[in-house]
Amino acid sequence: MSTVFNNATISKLVKDDSFQIIFKNIGNYQPQLTFIEQVWATWYVYMNNDVLATGLMFFVLHEFMYFIRCLPWFIIDSLPYFRKWKIQPTKIPSKKEQLECLKSVLLSHFLVEAIPIWTFHPMCEKLGISVKVPFPSLKTMSLEIALFFVLEDMWHYWLHRLFHYGNFYKYIHKQHHRYAAPFGLAAEYAHPIETMSLGFGTVGMPILYVMYTGNLHLFTLCIWITLRLFQAVDAHSGYDFPWSLHNFLPFWAGAEHHDLHHHYFIGNYASSFRWWDYYLDTEAGPDAKIAREERMKLTAVKNAKKYN
Ligand SMILES: [Zn+2]
Ligand SMILES: [Zn+2]
Repeated sequence: MSTVFNNATISKLVKDDSFQIIFKNIGNYQPQLTFIEQVWATWYVYMNNDVLATGLMFFVLHEFMYFIRCLPWFIIDSLPYFRKWKIQPTKIPSKKEQLECLKSVLLSHFLVEAIPIWTFHPMCEKLGISVKVPFPSLKTMSLEIALFFVLEDMWHYWLHRLFHYGNFYKYIHKQHHRYAAPFGLAAEYAHPIETMSLGFGTVGMPILYVMYTGNLHLFTLCIWITLRLFQAVDAHSGYDFPWSLHNFLPFWAGAEHHDLHHHYFIGNYASSFRWWDYYLDTEAGPDAKIAREERMKLTAVKNAKKYN
């Protein structure tokens, strides 16, 4: 029996063999629920096995959202009209390159990510991540997701910076840098150790959060993971449009930030925001290098004046 309702009697009342009838029953017995909450509850009642319901949902959500977000970039890459917004316009990924990348990403998803996804529900239960309806308020979810973005970005910055040292780069991170001009699909093209350790920023930060607060909903986690996937795919898209988010939110990293990282192999280590690279002077690219040298010159002049 599913635990999606606080009241077990409701779960019994709405139960049926057909998805449509369960959905209709939930609409009748719980009309105060929103459409998405009703679909969510129907899924759990229909599956009648919370472990399988959460596991399957998470796996399908990840695959669906990742590839659906990659699709527009795949189409854009095949249309010369968009070339004027390509950050490295001479480096268009070939169909062969994209196919190879797709095969590798799919294999890694099934081998590396399938197992944690199947053990996700028992872990949620242990940690107190709720699957029940109704969902938390929009305000609570937005604040939690904003916090996860900030925390993941911090984790990503430091670990990614570490991955650029010696053997960490040679044996782990080099795989992700195969494409000096990235494309959407390449977002998750990485060594399994990298997928798991950088992935800790995405899954582990919410886990630490719920361990501390004792309060988090699985739906919030689904939205967060979807947005984080979109961010990662977009950052690898290779396109900077006039309407790209970083043109409106100057601290948002976006493709322009991460493309430079792939191009120059050094600097721009953060994922979502620009503040770590800016304040720790690790910005990538020739413009950042000139600005850095200017700053060093100014400091040298200042110091010389101080001691003369
Ligand atoms: Zn890197
Ligand atoms: Zn990358």
